[in-house]
Amino acid sequence: MKNFPGNVFMVVAPSGAGKSSLISALLKEDSNIGLSISCTTRAPRPGEQDNVHYKFLSVEEFETLRDNNELLEWAKVHDNYYGTPKAYVQERIDKGQDILLEIDWQGAAQVREQFPQVIDIFILPPSIEILNERLNKRGQDSQAVIERRVLAASKEIAQADKCEYVIINDDFSVALQQLQQIVTVARLRFASQAKKHSELFQSYGILAQ
Ligand code: GDP
Ligand code: ADP
Ligand code: 5GP
Repeated sequence: MKNFPGNVFMVVAPSGAGKSSLISALLKEDSNIGLSISCTTRAPRPGEQDNVHYKFLSVEEFETLRDNNELLEWAKVHDNYYGTPKAYVQERIDKGQDILLEIDWQGAAQVREQFPQVIDIFILPPSIEILNERLNKRGQDSQAVIERRVLAASKEIAQADKCEYVIINDDFSVALQQLQQIVTVARLRFASQAKKHSELFQSYGILAQ
C-alpha cells in the first residue's frame, strides 16, 4: 500500500446527515472516484435499485460472503447487516485509483486498521432536531425506523472524533464544496502527484516513494 497513488476516502455519518446526497453530488462532477457499493440485508427503499444503491442480500447470502472472507469490513447497523465487498476495493487499489466508502463508524474502525492512510470524513447534521426533520422530509422510512435512527444518532456522533475531517452539513453547497476540497488536497499527496506527473518528477530526479 505504500506506493498506492490513489486515495481511500471514507464518509461516516448518522442516518439522515446527508452523506448519500453529498456523495452523489460529488460523484456527478468527479468520475475519478469509484464508489464502493455495500451489501446490506435491509429492504430496499422506494426507488433503490439492486447493485446501484446497494447489493441487497438475504441474511444467509450475507453470512456466506462474510464467512468466505469476501468483505473488507462488516457491521450490524440498526439491526441489519452492512458490509463492503473486498473485490472492488482491491481492484481500484491495484489500478491506483481513488475509492470511496460510505460506511458506519464500526466499519470505519475496521478499515482504519487495514488502511491507516485512509482519509476519513465525518458528516455532522447542524442539530439533532434538523436531523429528525430531514429524515421525516425524506419520507422513505417508517416513523418507528426514523425514531430508532435519531436515537442512535447521538451514539454515532460520539464517534466523530475518530475522523480526521468533519463537515457540518448545514448549507448543502458549502458542505459539498468542503468535501471537494478534501478530495483536491488528498490528490496533492506526494504519491499521487508523482504518478500523475511522472515525467516531471523523473526530470527532477525525484523518485516515487
Ligand atoms: P441512511 O444512512 O439513512 O441512508 O441509511 P442506510 O440504511 O443506507 O445506512 C444505515 C447505516 O449503515 C449508515 O450509517 C451507513 O453509513 C451504514 N452503512 C452503509 N453501508 C455500509 C457498509 O458497507 N459497511 C458498514 N459498516 N456500514 C455501512
Ligand atoms: P444519509 O445518506 O446520510 O442518510 P441523505 O443524503 O439521504 O442522508 O439526506 C437526508 C435528507 O436530507 C434527504 O432528504 C436530503 O435531500 C436532505 N438533505 C441533505 N443535505 C441537506 C442540507 N444541507 N439541507 C437540507 N436538506 C438536506
Ligand atoms: P460501471 O459498470 O460503469 O463500471 O460501474 C457502475 C458503478 O458501479 C460505478 O459506480 C462503479 O464504481 C460501481 N461498481 C462496478 N463494479 C463494482 C463492484 O464490483 N463492486 C462495487 N462495490 N461497485 C462496483
